[in-house]
Amino acid sequence: TRMVTLASRPDGEPGPENFDVVTAPVPELRDGQLLVRNIYMSVDPAMRGRMETTEKHYTTNFTVGDPLDGSAVGEVIASTLPAVAVGSHVRHRLGWREHAVVDAATATPVDPSTAALPDWLGILGQTGFTAYVGLTRAGRLAKGDTVFVSAAAGAVGSAAGQFARLLGADRVIGSAGGPKKARFLVDELGFDAGIDYRDDLSAGLDAAAPAGIDLYFDNVGGEHLVAALYALRERGRVALCGMISDMRDRDSSPAISHLIQATLKRLTIQGFIVRDHEDLRAEFEATVSAWLREGKVRSQATVSTGIENAPDAFLSMLTGGNVGKALVQLSEE
Ligand code: NDP
Repeated sequence: TRMVTLASRPDGEPGPENFDVVTAPVPELRDGQLLVRNIYMSVDPAMRGRMETTEKHYTTNFTVGDPLDGSAVGEVIASTLPAVAVGSHVRHRLGWREHAVVDAATATPVDPSTAALPDWLGILGQTGFTAYVGLTRAGRLAKGDTVFVSAAAGAVGSAAGQFARLLGADRVIGSAGGPKKARFLVDELGFDAGIDYRDDLSAGLDAAAPAGIDLYFDNVGGEHLVAALYALRERGRVALCGMISDMRDRDSSPAISHLIQATLKRLTIQGFIVRDHEDLRAEFEATVSAWLREGKVRSQATVSTGIENAPDAFLSMLTGGNVGKALVQLSEE
C-alpha cells in the first residue's frame, strides 16, 4: 500500500520536494484495531505548521521519514471488534495513506446515507464544526448581525458564511482571491457581497458594509484583520480562527498595533481551537444535517485523485487552488 511521508522540512514555502510517496506492507491488526481502506482524505492548512521543526503547534509536529496524517474517511475491510462491521464507514485521523490500521477508539462511525462521504470531512466534519463553533461560541453571533468572513470560498469560510445566515445574521459578506471566487460567494453560496481581496479590500468592505460589521470570522490574519478592525462597530466581535496569510509570509504582519482598535471600540476578540468544543458536536451534526437535507446549505469540494497527487493538492490549497473543502480521493466509494 502507498503512503506519503515527510521527505524534508520546508525551508520557507513548502514544495513537492518535501514529500515522498512510498510503498510499504499493510501491518498486522492487533486487538482493538481496524483495517480501513481510505476513500477520501482532507488536506488542511494546519499541516503547514506541523511540517516545521521548532514551532509549537496545537497538535504534534511530523517527523522526517514518517508518514503524514490528517482526517480521512474510508471503509472497514477487516475488524477485530464485533461492534464494528466490515463494510461500514469510519472517520479517523490516519489520512495520507491508502490503507490505515486504526485503533477503533480513535475512529468515529459515519453514515453515508445521512450525507455523502466527502461531506463527513467537509461541511459535516471538522471543517463545518469549526465554522459552527467559531460563529456561535467565539463570535457569539447575534440575530441581525452583519458578518464578514475571510477565505470565504474555502472550506471553513464557505460553511461559516452559509451558517451565519441560517443562524440569524442579517447581512453576510465574504472575501476571496479573484473575481471568480468573489462572484461565486454571491451567486452560489448566497452571500450578500463578495470582495476580491486582491483588488482593494478596505474599499470593498466599505462598499459592502457602509455601516460597519458586527462580527469578523478571521481565517486569514494580516491585512484582512486590519481592514476588519477598522470596519468593526463598537462592541463588535472577532472570532480568530486562523491566520493563513501568516503561514505564507511570516513577516507580513506588523499589524498588531492596529489592535488598539479593540480597545477603543470595546471589542471582544476570541481565539478558539475547535477540539475544545466537543460538547457542541451533537447539536452541530443535527442542525447541519437537517440543513443539508432541506437543501439550505451547499457543500462544495475540490477533489484530486490518487495518493501521488496528495502533496500537490495540499500545496495548491495553500495558494487558493481550492473552492470549498480540499480533498483527495484515494479509492472508489
Ligand atoms: P481553505 O479551504 O480556506 O483553504 C485555504 C484558503 O486560504 C485558500 O483557498 C486561499 O483562498 C486562502 N488564502 C491563502 N493565502 C491567503 C492570503 N495570503 N490571504 C488571504 N487568503 C489566503 O482552508 P480551511 O478552510 O481548511 O482553513 C481556513 C482557516 O481556518 C485556516 O486559517 C486554518 O488554519 C483555520 N482552521 C482553524 C481551526 C481552529 O480550530 N481554530 C480548525 C480548522 C481550520 P483564496 O483563493 O481566497 O486566497
